[in-house]
Order: sequence, then C-alpha cells, then structure tokens
Amino acid sequence: MIAQNLEKIHNRINAVEHSQKIMLIAVSKTKPASDLQKAIDAGQKHFGENYLQEALEKIETLKGQNLVWHFIGPIQSNKTKPIAQNFDWVHSVDRLKIAQRFNDQRPQGLEKLNVLLQVNIDNESTKSGVLVDEIEELIPHFENFKNISLRGFMCIPNPNNAEQSFKKMAEILQKHPNLDTLSMGMSSDLDLAIKNGATFVRIGTDIFGKRS
Ligand SMILES: *Cc1c(COP(=O)(O)O)cnc(C)c1O
Repeated sequence: MIAQNLEKIHNRINAVEHSQKIMLIAVSKTKPASDLQKAIDAGQKHFGENYLQEALEKIETLKGQNLVWHFIGPIQSNKTKPIAQNFDWVHSVDRLKIAQRFNDQRPQGLEKLNVLLQVNIDNESTKSGVLVDEIEELIPHFENFKNISLRGFMCIPNPNNAEQSFKKMAEILQKHPNLDTLSMGMSSDLDLAIKNGATFVRIGTDIFGKRS
C-alpha cells in the first residue's frame, strides 16, 4: 500500500509540467517506524516530522539507512538542541532567536544545518511564520551564522487561495538568487505547488493514510 502510494505520488509529480528539481518529503508524523521502513524499502529517503520526541525515537530506530530528516513542526526554543543534533533540514524557522540557537548548537563535524524561513504568506493569526514584510530585514542576519545555511522558504497557505499564495512565494524566492528551496505543497495541493515552483513537496496522508 505505502509503496503503491509512493508510486502514485511520483506519477502525480511527473504529470505536472515543471523544469525545477523536486524532492518528495514523506511526512510521517504519528506513524510508526514500521510504516517508514515500508517507504524506505520502496526507495524513499527524505522524511518530515513535526513532533520532536516521536521523531527522535524513529531516527534512532531507522539509523544507518542514509535517511534525510526534515523538522517541519512548530519549534519551542528549549527544544532546539536535539533538533540541531539530529536533523538535516528545518523548515519552520520563524524568528532570529531560533536561528541563533541552531547556529550555536549545531555539532561541529556535522554539515551545516539547512534551514528555511516559514512564511505566514496569508497573514493568518492562527499560523506561525514571518510576515512577508519582515523577510528582507531578516535575511542579512543569516550571513553571521556559520553553522546553518539559509536555503529558502516554506509556507502552509490558506486552502482558499493556495495558488495565489504559491505564486507570491515564488516571487519572494526569485528576489534571492542565492537561495534555491521552496517547500510548499501537501497531499491536496501538491500539483498546484509544483506548477508554481515548489522544490520540496511535503506529503503525509496520501502516502501513509489518514492520521487519527
Ligand atoms: C502534516 C503536515 C504535512 C502533510 O500534510 P498532508 O495533508 O497529510 O499531506 C505537510 N506539512 C506540514 C507542515 C504538516 O504539518
């Protein structure tokens, strides 16, 4: 089932005309390591997790398989250290203080931690992320951080105007030729996201089934 679902997602990705390279991130929050192993056996390497404790358990259980781990959930500042120690990417950086902590806490000997700024693209009070107006002021600060690498942006748009928001995100990325990553598109809107420039798509339900 999981292997077939992955194949369907790859077919969906290929069905959308695009020139950018796309990485499929399997969002495995709340799912057991045995489900992730099925995806790994079908060739999946990148996994996205939202909750630190369960993520750390799965990272330990599945180690030695060359996986790439993405932290995509809300970040509490007292939880940054295990994230800096165990993940390859963080999509949900929404304030400088968090970036500073990742920079200070990334272990020497590991590659730089890749980070994305989460953008509250529709200016919704219920969502985290930096506002569009704050982005340009924040970016230069990242030059001071030697242990993390700002790669681009992530968003979770309001479903009512997802396409418009994806287009806005692509415009923001275009202003920064040194950045290369746009994390956008989930099970319901991955096609629209790819059409509008996504380079990472984050798919949970359509790979692993509904979450309880
Ligand atoms: C849960 C989650 C996803 C996956 O959503 P699906 O609709 O299950 O594909 C993607 N991104 C984030 C930030 C999530 O929390």
